[in-house]
Amino acid sequence: MRDQRDGRRSNQVSRRSLLGGAAAAAGVAGVATGAAVVGGAATAHAVEPPSAERFRPGRPIVFRGATVVTMDDELGVLADADVLVVGTRIEAVGHALPTPPGTAVVETGGGLLTPGFVDTHRHVWQTALRGVGVEWTLAEYMERMFGRWGLAYRPEDLAAGNRMGMVEALDAGVTTVLDWSHNLRTPEHADAAVDGLLAVPARARFGIGNAFADSAGWIHGGEVDRLLDSRFPSRDQLVTPQIAYDIVPPDEELLPALRFARDRGLQWTSHGGIVGYAADETITFLADNGFLSPDITLVHGGAYGEDGYRRLADAGAFLSIAAESELNAGQGYPPSHRAREFGVRMSLSMDTVVWWSGDMFSAMRATLNADRGLAHLRAHERGEVLQSNALRSAEVLEWATMGGARALGMEAEIGSITPGKLADLVLLRTDTTVMSPLSNPVGHLVFQAGRADVDTVVVNGRVVKHRGELVGVDVAGARREVEASLEHLRAEIGDQEWEAASHG
Ligand SMILES: [Zn+2]
Repeated sequence: MRDQRDGRRSNQVSRRSLLGGAAAAAGVAGVATGAAVVGGAATAHAVEPPSAERFRPGRPIVFRGATVVTMDDELGVLADADVLVVGTRIEAVGHALPTPPGTAVVETGGGLLTPGFVDTHRHVWQTALRGVGVEWTLAEYMERMFGRWGLAYRPEDLAAGNRMGMVEALDAGVTTVLDWSHNLRTPEHADAAVDGLLAVPARARFGIGNAFADSAGWIHGGEVDRLLDSRFPSRDQLVTPQIAYDIVPPDEELLPALRFARDRGLQWTSHGGIVGYAADETITFLADNGFLSPDITLVHGGAYGEDGYRRLADAGAFLSIAAESELNAGQGYPPSHRAREFGVRMSLSMDTVVWWSGDMFSAMRATLNADRGLAHLRAHERGEVLQSNALRSAEVLEWATMGGARALGMEAEIGSITPGKLADLVLLRTDTTVMSPLSNPVGHLVFQAGRADVDTVVVNGRVVKHRGELVGVDVAGARREVEASLEHLRAEIGDQEWEAASHG
């Protein structure tokens, strides 16, 4: 602990000096950015060993000369800074850090280093159906996925979807995903879903759910306890469990299940606040029965009323806003403006790649677009023109990192680049066409950056992507599995229905 405190003190000094010469510091970062290639790729690539060997497990890593967007309130944004990773954790953040012998050095050349992104709601099991629902509404999704299509899933389809979905997430710098897994119709489906998550070195929260079962039988048949005992003997692992089950409509029979989750220290997430499906009754039910707490994340939430938002804020419960989903499928307007008004804690999510993208750059942009666009529209309708935007880019970046960490109860471990936390990091190139010149790191992350800029990804201290290539991840194998899964699902769905669903 002493080392961490010492590290923090040196960081504070560094930041003060930076603040004293912010313009000069930014200028240095900008020059470095323009002149160098992240990772020294242009000069060092030919003589370096392969990434898997260079970043072998247990070898410390230092990122040198980065623009570090720490998302740590005390550290802020550091120019020309280093981040040292030892074992699974961030050992130190600062300038010209001393390193242990044998440390792997990544010269970032002014690259942009951020915490790994956290997605608090993604139905990863649906990855094989990527893109088929691009024209759908929520009603069409419900009819298809929870009518016939979901029932066509074999255990291996869940495994394949989860595996490819987590590979995709890692590639985009999404280091933690709450896999909202609500097609666990048999124990075999559940085990296969876990297998798919474990096949990829990403951090996942396995949201145990079954949209096809009755609420009473689902949790008390012993299946969740079996999974906890057999697949999650420790919470100190990359994949951890919680409950993902809709309290829509509220049902007294769910009270024992909520007690079960609380007794076992499992968080709970439910969709809710959806126009035409659910208003405040989920919140009222949880509050009246003593279960509205920081352990609860409600997804979407655009249909809640003032009382609902007030109760969420008072209880410290979370919203997961999936703006791309809500704007296209019609669950309700993305409620970030309402949540900000009432002080509800927020995280962001992508929902499903059946329609949308699976990266948090898109989530941040969609959220900003929706929030600001509505404010402008309402002003115009009043005959006014806004002179400033209320929602700032830094807030949205906070929701995509620390907000997600808090919603998962992991804020002490992930979500910011803070000495002592687990090392989940994303290094973005700043020599790409959209990332140079780099003048506003947070602004670039929110409105400029994309998947192609993600150079290096670290999860739990392990390099899983470097120089734009996944490391120690069998991408071709994951693709083969998910393509075979799609073939099966399409055959089950039938050509006529598939074509109608794709283009209708
Ligand atoms: Zn969802």
